[in-house]
Amino acid sequence: MSYKAIIANKDRKAEVIDKELRPLESGEALLNMECCGVCHTDMHVKNADYGDKAGVTLGHEGIGIVEAVAEDVTSLKVGDRASVAWFFEGCGTCEYCTSGRETLCRTVKNAGYTVDGGMAEKTIVTADYAVKVPDNLPSPAASSITCAGVTTYKAIKVSNIQPGQWLLISGLGGLGNLALQYAKKVFNAKVIAVDINDRQLEFAKEHGADLTINPLHENVGEVVQGATGGAHAAVVTAVAKSAFNDAVDAVRAGARVVAVGLPTDAMDLSIPRLVLDGIEVIGSLVGTREDLREAFQFGAEGLVVPKCQMRPMEDINDIFQEMEDGSIQGRMVIELNK
Ligand SMILES: [Zn+2]
Ligand SMILES: [Zn+2]
Repeated sequence: MSYKAIIANKDRKAEVIDKELRPLESGEALLNMECCGVCHTDMHVKNADYGDKAGVTLGHEGIGIVEAVAEDVTSLKVGDRASVAWFFEGCGTCEYCTSGRETLCRTVKNAGYTVDGGMAEKTIVTADYAVKVPDNLPSPAASSITCAGVTTYKAIKVSNIQPGQWLLISGLGGLGNLALQYAKKVFNAKVIAVDINDRQLEFAKEHGADLTINPLHENVGEVVQGATGGAHAAVVTAVAKSAFNDAVDAVRAGARVVAVGLPTDAMDLSIPRLVLDGIEVIGSLVGTREDLREAFQFGAEGLVVPKCQMRPMEDINDIFQEMEDGSIQGRMVIELNK
């Protein structure tokens, strides 16, 4: 039986092709896919920025309905809705997998990168690693939470922000807007939104940002220190080195700066600033299965509402172009099996 899938081809383009369905192996489940969000990482995989991945099915924001399970599977049953996430499978036994840090597993498998992902009519998942979606969370919203949502939710958790404290969020695009919602609605933080795009800042204000700053017009460190005495923590989703430096300048002593965005540069770090002010700079990568369960639940309770737009499979190269042009607001989600 064949099914349609979006792959990265040899010309660094995405392409819709027919793939042949293989039989399920032990521990696996077959998902009949409903939708899959498009993430910047998909563009990097397609462009071979992380090595030649030609032929792999893209996508790690997939949501599908279980159509079949291997005989030994107990974690999913036919009819369940489940996710296809970047953290596709860990080894289950290493020091990271057994200490709540499974996304750091050295032999991790990633959907849409090392294994076929969710931008297809059918996806085979490792059942124990495919997180179930709560009933009252619509699939498009769930798809955005599977990567963008859980990534920002986890980063805010890592920031150690407490209710009523000031959290600086740098970059208010697809990731940052969800970070803002989790920060306000789940963590009860006060949010400083920083972005070079005034439209994104306007959008952030509408969604409850308490202070907005455009670094093209204002000095982020000075404004934040003056208005708040320094942020208690910062989450940087922006992909500019300057955003990381600004975040360090804007926090107060003892604060954590959590890096999520992935510019390829090195950041400037003043060692006296780190030592004398006890600043911590820490990276955060997606989220564990438990983080995703929690992030889904807050979505199901209506606290976090991703902004999604449904698109057909054939639009994939247009979507990547729009991404490069920076013209996308919210998340583009590929509708599958339509
Ligand atoms: Zn992603
Ligand atoms: Zn492991």
